[in-house]
Amino acid sequence: MGTILDIQDLTVHFPISIGTVRAVEGVNLKLEEGEVMGLVGESGCGKSTLGFSILRLLRPPGEIVGGKILYHGEDIVQMTTEEILALRGGRIAMIFQDPLTSLNPLFRIDAQFTETLLTHEKGLDRKSAFGRAEGMLESLGISPERLLEYPHQMSGGMRQRIMIGMGLILNPDLLIADEPTTSLDVIVEAQFLDLLNDLRKQFSLTILLITHNLGNVAQLADRITVMYGGTIAETGPAGDIFEDPLHPYTQGLLASIPNIKLDQPKLITMPGSPPDLVNPPPGCVFHPRCPHVMEICQSDKPDVLQKGGRLVACWLQR
Ligand code: SF4
Repeated sequence: MGTILDIQDLTVHFPISIGTVRAVEGVNLKLEEGEVMGLVGESGCGKSTLGFSILRLLRPPGEIVGGKILYHGEDIVQMTTEEILALRGGRIAMIFQDPLTSLNPLFRIDAQFTETLLTHEKGLDRKSAFGRAEGMLESLGISPERLLEYPHQMSGGMRQRIMIGMGLILNPDLLIADEPTTSLDVIVEAQFLDLLNDLRKQFSLTILLITHNLGNVAQLADRITVMYGGTIAETGPAGDIFEDPLHPYTQGLLASIPNIKLDQPKLITMPGSPPDLVNPPPGCVFHPRCPHVMEICQSDKPDVLQKGGRLVACWLQR
């Protein structure tokens, strides 16, 4: 097992009329081959921007202004357009929140699979491509006959399974799943996560699962990275983070999950709002909401400290 993705000091900015949105600030993150990394945090914390940056899919005015994204040692930030196009789908796949907007409504499912295959695999004929699409539908637990249908003829859960099949048809080794279950109901969501777990083993996948849903990461992730205000708050094995969160933001996130075993008349919430990323607070970006804030937190950005197999950015851990 080696490192498949090594993000070093990544910084992504969005210059807009009122200033610069500092969406991702100096993020370091490593993914080891075969693991599922859950990337969690509130909306606007920078997790999806980080995912889009890996495939250089940021929309203007978003731009990577610093850092490296090493994929098997090659820096994606420095790649040419041709190199990036070969990487997308072929070696790294991404699935998005809403499959209906990602599938073309005018084409049958078979056409969408074969087009992907014929574009990337020169010399492949249409009949073989169709056969590969049939095999993929079987892996997804969908009857291959449904290849002849249009996206609108399928349920939301089936469309999301088709999307993941299209992502995997070219045998990538890294899958970025950006909030893949947001549009699914809880039953279909559980089935989809089971499927993702099966496919991970079948296709020897490494997965970056971007989500605000801690239940999803609990079910699937080996390790978790918690983002806040464009920075990494904490990274570590999933079990350790759920049992003993070190960062006050992670502690707040976990405390806000309703527990049916406890008599809780009110849901627990975290006070305050996410930071303004045009004018982020000085020092620790979480300090205006932190119940343990100290003087140093208001002026100095916390160092990232190693605690066993975990990394945490908090002055409390000095
Ligand atoms: Fe709270 Fe300070 Fe730790 Fe930030 S560095 S999370 S403000 S204790």
